[in-house]
Order: sequence, then structure tokens, then C-alpha cells
Amino acid sequence: MNIDLRSDTVTKPTPAMLDAMWSAKVGDDVFGEDPTVAELENKLAGLFGMEAGLFCPSGTMTNQIAVKLHTGPQKEVICHKYSHIYLYEAGGIMSNAFASVKLLDGEFGKVTVEDVADAINGDDIHAPETSLVALENTMNKGGGSVYSLEEVRPISELCRESKLKLHLDGARIFNALVKTGEPAKAWGAMFDTISVCISKGLGCPVGSVLLGDNETIKRAKRVRKAFGGGMRQAGFLAAAGIYALDHHVDRLKEDHQRAEALASVLKHHPNVSKILPVSTNIVIAQLVGVTPKEMLDQLERKGIKAVAFGKDLIRFVTHLDFTDEHLDAFSQRIM
Ligand SMILES: *Cc1c(COP(=O)(O)O)cnc(C)c1O
Repeated sequence: MNIDLRSDTVTKPTPAMLDAMWSAKVGDDVFGEDPTVAELENKLAGLFGMEAGLFCPSGTMTNQIAVKLHTGPQKEVICHKYSHIYLYEAGGIMSNAFASVKLLDGEFGKVTVEDVADAINGDDIHAPETSLVALENTMNKGGGSVYSLEEVRPISELCRESKLKLHLDGARIFNALVKTGEPAKAWGAMFDTISVCISKGLGCPVGSVLLGDNETIKRAKRVRKAFGGGMRQAGFLAAAGIYALDHHVDRLKEDHQRAEALASVLKHHPNVSKILPVSTNIVIAQLVGVTPKEMLDQLERKGIKAVAFGKDLIRFVTHLDFTDEHLDAFSQRIM
């Protein structure tokens, strides 16, 4: 049995999801004629209490569209130095939006309202003009850490007072909501745009939806076209998302439980010195006495896959295709 914990993107569609995809009603979505894409966009927008959604091929695209809409040349985005938009989107902030970035520190990849307030550039011609604050929830490189509503509300208020846009990279927002039990609408109310991935914990093969108000999503559609992200009979893919929203959200708590169980086994490994606090489905282990490559090779020989995540860190992510059986096998093989 192969145990693939590199990412929650490695899942394959379940038979029931494939059925839903097969039987989707489709049309040409670039002409705005795919009813299933529209249904997914409206369903997600409705869940978050936002006006509209835009289905895109990836979370990188939904994030980069948001960055491009909310910044531009001589403007600046404030984000944590661990942010996906900064670290893992191939320099798109510069190459797509021509914008500058101000990076913040903060434990587990999270920023505070005080840090954000200090980072806003004043009315000074020497500095780029701050126009966007971007948060990530859950925070991937922070170990799947979760923001609470109470932590984000003051940041949202600050952005409104300061006339800054606020974007949420919610690639794993449902992991956060399942963890805290907070309502999606309370999150929708705080942000100008939210990216929601269906290809992560929700278990779909492809896709992410950008949420925002009607005017923003209309502009986003033009940017998506320029990025080459206009898709035709994309309803086959959107159908997977609709299915996942109905069947794969509550079960995320199982992924969280298995991540904790995995961490409690892993911490006894002689080459693991520490494990970051586990909040959701991500487990980051700090290594001692081996490099990440040596540790990954050692795991690979036992049929376990993970990824390097910094100079002495490796990451494991639990998901739909990591069952109790896999967890047992992991526990047996790991030592
Ligand atoms: C995976 C991920 C994305 C988007 O990734 P794609 O592979 O482009 O879909 C964005 N943000 C975070 C935090 C992610 O983990």
C-alpha cells in the first residue's frame, strides 16, 4: 500500500464524484453558457454570502487574479513572509501585477492587526502605495494554522478605514471552518475577495473559485481570459465541486483527527526533534541528524511519500485517500 502524504491534491475522484461529473449538463463557459459552472459559482458565493464567483483552473490563478485586481505598478501588497502568493506562485505578484510586496513575520504564518497597521505606507512619494492586505487560512507553511474571526475582524476593519482591499487565500478555508465551527458568511463579510480551492481537501481533480462582488468578478473574468483561464465545457469539473460541497466538507474533521494521530506517532521517530502544533490536516516535522532529502529517501523506501518544507523541515498532509488503514500502515512502517 502506497502512502502518499505529499499534499491533499493527490486525491482521485471517488466513484460517486465521477458519476456526478459524467452526468453534468455543460455548455461553453466562455460564452457564459455552462449551467454547472454557474451553479458551482453561485453555490459557493451563496455559502459565503458574497455576490458572485469565478471558476478557475487553479488556486494560483484565483489568487493572482485578485492580486492583479487589487494592486498594480507602484502599489504594494502586505502579506506574511510564508504566504503562498509570495512563496509558491512563481513570482506572479511582480510578473502579473507589477506590484511590490511588504512581508511580515508572525508565529505560525499569522499576522496581527498591529503588524498590518505598522506596515501600511503613509502618503509619501518615496514609498509604493499600499493597496492590498492578503491573508491565508489555513496557513500552509505555518503548519495548517487557523485564524479565528476575532483575529481577522480588526484587520478587516483597519483595511476598510484605510481604504485597502483585503484578500483571503482560502485554498483550505473549509478546513478552518470545520475546525472552528465558524459560519462561512461571517468570513465572506470581512473580505473583498476569497479564493476557495476544490482540488485540496475537498478532493476534486481541478479548480478554484474566486469570490467577490459582481463588479469585481466581472473585472476578474477579463483578467482570467488574459491569463488563459477561460475554459469551455468546464461543467464536468465544476460538477465535482458541487458534489464535494455536498459530501466532502464535514468529513474534513477526519483528516484533522488522522493528522493528530500521525503526529503522535511521528514524534517518536529518532530523527524528528519537534512537530509544529497540528491544527488541521498539515503536519510539519523538524528533523535532527538527517537532511530532509535523507529522511524522504528513508520514508520512500517504506512506501511513504512526504515533501521537504525548508532546510530542516518536512511536511505531511492528510486527505480523502488517506484512510484509517493507511494510518495503521504508516504507524507500523514509520519506526
Ligand atoms: C495549493 C494552494 C494554493 C493554490 O494552488 P494551486 O496548485 O495553484 O491550485 C493557494 N494557496 C495555498 C495556501 C495553497 O496551499
